[in-house]
Amino acid sequence: MTEFAPYTPEMALKAADLLAQGGLVVVPTETVYGLAADATNDNAVARIFEAKGRPSFNPLIIHVENAAMAGEWAEISPLAEKLAAAFWPGALTLVLPRRAGTRLSRLVSAGLDTVAVRCPASGPAQAVLAALGRPFAAPSANRSGSISPTRATHAAKTLSDKVDLILDAGPCDIGVESTIIRVEGGQIYLLRPGGLSVEAIERVAGVRLEKPQWPEIQAPGMMESHYAPQARLRLDALTPSPGELFLAFGPTPENVSATRNLSPGSDLTEAAANLFNHLHELDALGDRIAVAPIPEEGLGLAINDRLRRAAAPRP
Ligand code: AMP
Ligand code: MG
Repeated sequence: MTEFAPYTPEMALKAADLLAQGGLVVVPTETVYGLAADATNDNAVARIFEAKGRPSFNPLIIHVENAAMAGEWAEISPLAEKLAAAFWPGALTLVLPRRAGTRLSRLVSAGLDTVAVRCPASGPAQAVLAALGRPFAAPSANRSGSISPTRATHAAKTLSDKVDLILDAGPCDIGVESTIIRVEGGQIYLLRPGGLSVEAIERVAGVRLEKPQWPEIQAPGMMESHYAPQARLRLDALTPSPGELFLAFGPTPENVSATRNLSPGSDLTEAAANLFNHLHELDALGDRIAVAPIPEEGLGLAINDRLRRAAAPRP
């Protein structure tokens, strides 16, 4: 059952509790309403993709209370720090290297070694983050393909019964998504225009925003190869051939042993939560991976989309 409640400080505590237990909460921010899950919980993050009905795994933005919290999960260069000091809290998302050795979900980054981070200005979002004490991941709170929600009722229209709680704090102040930039050494790249102007960013950075040079992030949402393992993948394999590692899904046939299993119980949410971790681990173990068939339904669409890209020949 989805609870729909006006925002109050008590409700922020309840939202943080639900998030800490792996729940999904619609949280108001000043840009658009976000569909939030604990950014350290792979299974909760997998539920975001399931609730949105996304056919592919786009990396998600993590939301932090302040720059200090950002620094626990991402590496903040001097230029990134300068931009954060000028525009946080606010409608600026910074794509930064993931800090090594954290519990941050790999699914949040869709397997990339970077993570997108934003510090929202909205009071309700701030209160939830303060109570949670760690970041939540949140894309816009709408079904894939429907328009971005700037009121709680918009989110309720497409996500009712898919989330645990919807917090209503009235219309969003900005109403468009954040501006996303990647900070790379002394350069900045515009990944998505949004609520903060290019001019304001360039003024503070002291350099021009470049067009990204690398193909996978030229157009947000249209990334060709977020993450590909080094190993060669053979898809729809019922059993591994000699010399192949085996990424299984569901029960394995007798005499076949799985090197890793995405979900022994054939649960697609669990499989999505394990996908990037298992691929990273298998990649370190060998150079040929046989992958069991994954049903083409629900989250299976996004899993298969990712596996097909990972298996595709590349330069
Ligand atoms: P949304 O899910 O609607 O909030 O959009 C988030 C967008 O952020 C995605 O479409 C990505 O293009 C972008 N994004 C998030 N993380 C990264 C990342 N690590 N590298 C590049 N782009 C990212
Ligand atoms: Mg969106």
